[in-house]
Amino acid sequence: MSTSPEVVIVGAGLAGACAALELSRSREVLVIDAVGAAAGASGAAAGLVNPFMGRKARPVWQLADALAAVRAAVARAEAEDLFDDRGVLRPVVEDGQAAVFRERAAEFPEHLMFLSPEAVAGQYPSVAAPAGALWVRTGGAVMVPSFVQRVLDAAARQGATVISGQHVSAWRSTDTHASVTLDHGEQLQAGHVVLALGYGGVGHPALDALDLRGVKGQTLRVRLPAGPTTDQLPPVAGSGYAVPVSTDDARRTLILGSSYEHQFTTLDPTGDATQQILRKTQRLVPALAEATIRDAVTGVRVYAGQHNRPVLAPLPDAPRVWAFTGLGSKGLLMAPLLARLLGDHLHDPAGVPEALGVPAGT
Ligand SMILES: Cc1cc2nc3c(=O)[nH]c(=O)nc-3n(C[C@H](O)[C@H](O)[C@H](O)COP(=O)(O)OP(=O)(O)OC[C@H]3O[C@@H](n4cnc5c(N)ncnc54)[C@H](O)[C@@H]3O)c2cc1C
Repeated sequence: MSTSPEVVIVGAGLAGACAALELSRSREVLVIDAVGAAAGASGAAAGLVNPFMGRKARPVWQLADALAAVRAAVARAEAEDLFDDRGVLRPVVEDGQAAVFRERAAEFPEHLMFLSPEAVAGQYPSVAAPAGALWVRTGGAVMVPSFVQRVLDAAARQGATVISGQHVSAWRSTDTHASVTLDHGEQLQAGHVVLALGYGGVGHPALDALDLRGVKGQTLRVRLPAGPTTDQLPPVAGSGYAVPVSTDDARRTLILGSSYEHQFTTLDPTGDATQQILRKTQRLVPALAEATIRDAVTGVRVYAGQHNRPVLAPLPDAPRVWAFTGLGSKGLLMAPLLARLLGDHLHDPAGVPEALGVPAGT
């Protein structure tokens, strides 16, 4: 391990891994994680790549670039087998939504198509969509924990070093360099530091300016009984979601999500969240009533400021220390895109779109 790499990245989740993949193309990079790859929210994510999220299916920020960046990262990490690119099916789940979905489909015909109830029943017989569904053909799903590992492996092939089990307790920036301090007191110097801490940054006094908050979420990994498979079941998202695990050769494993807990006292999975997820997803895919729960995983999504925009910016009082956080529930669509911006603008922060700056008014 070099003790003075050009960039130290703290955190090996989606953000840190994608940053490592970009920055290690031309720089010496060291990634440090307190636990290991995808130990935080990235380990709980269901993996939806859904560029039209929310009840109104609004397009994500920088739609085309975000989608292109995910595909480029998948290719560079040689992770095509982890990417289910069959699209995302969004059944209408509330009054008035069909009209909104139809309007969206007319507005973004290259991404979306509205399917009638009959069309859904014909193409996807295991999905319940009595009022039709929005077909997000440019979406899909990526198995996030394995993807993060592949991205880190690709970064390592470019020369990055990844170390686990080291918690970073502090960071500093001078005019000429930055540094991090590990728990046992060792200091590592670098040209720049990138903080991709996920929930590890929430409540950290040195990051108050970012106005971060966490929303706990739980996902379930379930297995269908012998018989039905996920071959005819694409990723489905309504008020909950069901995502087939593309690496399961038997095509019977799915990830179901998710809960949204703004107040929480434990990071452990709870029975209440499990029941809520089962209720929501069985409405979309009735056959899930027969599925067996294999495990439940939790993570904390991080949001920044009032507008819930991601943050990619140097810290106001430490200009060589960048924050890369606030990916919320759009980790897959935002991390590769922001990582690319970071690679382009590490020495030119003014080139990063203002929308990704430290939230105003804090
Ligand atoms: C239940 C759930 C479902 C989700 N589903 C989806 C989905 O379907 N699609 C999607 O795109 N997104 C989804 N997300 C969101 C996505 O998981 C996150 O946006 C993304 O994983 C955040 O990545 P990150 O790298 O910022 O944080 P994390 O993945 O949390 O990584 C942070 C890393 O930093 C390390 N760390 C923290 N503090 C320190 C420290 N001081 N020193 C050293 N290391 C430290 C941690 O160990 C961790 O590994 C979901 C999230 C949850 C919780």
